[in-house]
Amino acid sequence: MPPQTPDAKITTMKQGAELTGLSQAELVSFVETMGEPAYRGRQIFAALQHRRLRSFDEMTDLPKDFRARLSEVARASSLTVESRYLSEDGTRRYLMKTHDGFPVETVFIPEERRDTICFSSQSGCPLQCTFCLTAQLGLLRSLTAGEIVEQIVIALNDAYGAGVKPPRGTNLVGMGAGEPFLNFDSLLQALRVMADAQGLHIVPNRVTISTAGVVPRILELAKASDRPHLAISLAAPTDELRNELMPINKKWPLEQLLSACKEFEKTLKPNERVTFEYVMLAGVNDEDEHARQLANLLNRHGLKAKVNLIPHNPAEPLPYQPSLDQTVDRFKNILESKGIHVYVRRPRGRDIFAACGQLAARQGTPININSIGA
Ligand code: SAH
Repeated sequence: MPPQTPDAKITTMKQGAELTGLSQAELVSFVETMGEPAYRGRQIFAALQHRRLRSFDEMTDLPKDFRARLSEVARASSLTVESRYLSEDGTRRYLMKTHDGFPVETVFIPEERRDTICFSSQSGCPLQCTFCLTAQLGLLRSLTAGEIVEQIVIALNDAYGAGVKPPRGTNLVGMGAGEPFLNFDSLLQALRVMADAQGLHIVPNRVTISTAGVVPRILELAKASDRPHLAISLAAPTDELRNELMPINKKWPLEQLLSACKEFEKTLKPNERVTFEYVMLAGVNDEDEHARQLANLLNRHGLKAKVNLIPHNPAEPLPYQPSLDQTVDRFKNILESKGIHVYVRRPRGRDIFAACGQLAARQGTPININSIGA
């Protein structure tokens, strides 16, 4: 099926408008086109985003005949959960399907003081990073704003029940399948909807979006007033190596990418930094020389960067192995000796294909999904 460009606003499809992707104001306009008063729009918004309901039937505060008319022209839910996988470390992966049959994956990662939800921006991915399993799917289609928001609703409902306020903070990372900056409008629309204090209330400051390096969008995001944090998937310190691992580098090479990051940096808050993710592939990009090149590259651009070293998550048929722990430590020490802030990311959910780079709609042994009511 050819890629489609989704309309970020009221997407009218065969089964009607997708309400989960609409802001409160847009829902008000929507109900007004149906001849209803504005407060009905606010009621629907509260039902979808605050109570996290996923069907009109459950919205019993709306008159029955209005619910019936709504279900003729709109959808309260666009995703269905196909399977849920639970890792021994508590991470959960959801394999869902869009109403038109495309796979969507979301990962829920409980941590001590907060939960992190890793959402997908596209079904599949058009980029061809050689170390990432999602690349093997190709781009199936970009997700709508509603499909992005609903991933978070589903993960929260499964963890805590519909309408229950999460006991811990929720952080979002746009690091699932797809390239978020190739679905920019829907992404920003979803973030706007989720930020509403009367809904999910997940503000941009709690959100990190990762890009393989779509330079024009980095510059555009820098201009946005209320924007998420930025992460860049780097994977290599030279154009020669990065062209091989991440073909997008041929379009936007390192010089352009890091100059855009420098522009972005001008808009950072005092303690905020751009994160650079560096997947560590044994014998490919993990030598001392690479660490020195990486430090020099970041320092030459005067970036106050933070580097996240991610041990490669191996999976058939990817041709790489993760770097040894001692190699990761050495690499980290070299970067630190040159003044770079470094973190080593602990893989989560590897056993259920939920870790970075493993989202490719894999089946497994699902656990009971009754509690999701999907
Ligand atoms: N397209 C965006 C969003 C995906 S984020 C981007 O490229 O940033 C996925 C993150 O997982 C990236 O930082 C990538 O470097 C990392 N990654 C991909 N495949 C991986 C693998 N097999 N092991 C570890 N990390 C991987």
